[in-house]
Amino acid sequence: MNSLYLLRGPISLRAFNFIKIANQTAQIQNAFIRRPLQFRRVLSSVRATRDEELAAIAAAPNANSGAPTIFDKIISKEIPSSIVYEDESVLAFRDISPQAPVHVLVIPKLRDGLTQLGKAEKRHEEILGQLLHAAKIVAEKEGISDGFRVVINSGASACQSVYHLHLHVLGGRQMKWPPG
Ligand code: 5GP
Repeated sequence: MNSLYLLRGPISLRAFNFIKIANQTAQIQNAFIRRPLQFRRVLSSVRATRDEELAAIAAAPNANSGAPTIFDKIISKEIPSSIVYEDESVLAFRDISPQAPVHVLVIPKLRDGLTQLGKAEKRHEEILGQLLHAAKIVAEKEGISDGFRVVINSGASACQSVYHLHLHVLGGRQMKWPPG
């Protein structure tokens, strides 16, 4: 047994690891070069998810304080929004950060304690029905009646970031299941 034989094991292991790392690097570079669009999409969806989680964490302490939200300013038209549908009880406007080709928020004009769905009471039955009906009208107006999703995030662990009940109406692309 000579000294070269003793070195063979560790050296071949190092060589193997080097080849493995080089391969992985090449795969990542390939993905970057050959499929930059998919790569950017994955990165931006990871970033969007993280942003939503951070916004939800930031909003949680004031969740049920009754403090006004950004939606009050949208209702009063102090802040401009792209309105899709409006009646005396309900306002529907495009989400500022759309997660689908169609992403519309449907909200009650009068919050009346409905900071989140988890706070709904018997007296809210009528407005809850009106919101769902408005979601259907929005889907029709946006041409997505054949397939759309309605989401309500209730509470911080569901990623709610604005404490004024709202329905997300999403469509215009194939939705995935289960949701994240
Ligand atoms: P949540 O995370 O509470 O379920 O949804 C709140 C939604 O409100 C988010 O999708 C967010 O993009 C949207 N949003 C927040 N601020 C504004 C705004 O100033 N204008 C509009 N149009 N949407 C907003």
